[in-house]
Amino acid sequence: MRVLGRCFAITGLAYMPPWSVNAGFVAGDGTTLVIDTGATALSATSIYGYATAVKPENRIAVFNTEKHFDHIGGNGFFRDRGAEIHGHPLIARTEEEFGQERSEFNAAILSRSRRELREENAFCDGTTLKNPDRPAKDGDRFDLGGCAVEVISTPGHTPTNLSAWVREDRVLFCGDCLVNRYVANLDCGGTKDWVEWLSSVERIERLEPRAIVPGHGPVALEDEVPRLIETVREEIQRALSVGATRTSV
Ligand SMILES: [Zn+2]
Repeated sequence: MRVLGRCFAITGLAYMPPWSVNAGFVAGDGTTLVIDTGATALSATSIYGYATAVKPENRIAVFNTEKHFDHIGGNGFFRDRGAEIHGHPLIARTEEEFGQERSEFNAAILSRSRRELREENAFCDGTTLKNPDRPAKDGDRFDLGGCAVEVISTPGHTPTNLSAWVREDRVLFCGDCLVNRYVANLDCGGTKDWVEWLSSVERIERLEPRAIVPGHGPVALEDEVPRLIETVREEIQRALSVGATRTSV
């Protein structure tokens, strides 16, 4: 979907049920910046298709919002097409971790015979691990021609979380710093991370976005933005007051 101006979201890409995952892109006059690449090469194929349909002549660059495989799984697809991959320097996943992720997918298949046939191979067909090759940090700017994307540090969910802010359209792509309808995933860190996460949420609030493309769930537009921010803030505050998450079991 077109969110606003030059900003597009691709929602509902396949992941471990009940999760789907989002990606997006910002189409400048010379460069299209793809924000997250889905979990697999198949998702990346769809993202690439949408992005190149909007601006076929543009160069493509990729920006990752974090280290989890649902956001970087399609990196290899884009790298094979010459795209630079930008992301937090601590995104350094190993082949062993990638193999574990694939095994988890297979274990989640309900049918025993399909598990035995390792149907995760169909889901992951052509997917190769590729970490970012260009470090990104708070304050970086991508000049896309006619518009710019600013990198905002938004840690908490993981230490690698970065957001992409398109000031001229007031659209924020924030990865899993904010998730919509789903319960925010606080299980990757502890109290120190959650305190950081609250600061990240407040930073986002101060930007006064018109639209937010979250890591998971529907895009939040206009009046839905404050509600999305408030819901995630309450979840973090709850974990801080209890000293535990609701989703650890
Ligand atoms: Zn995610």
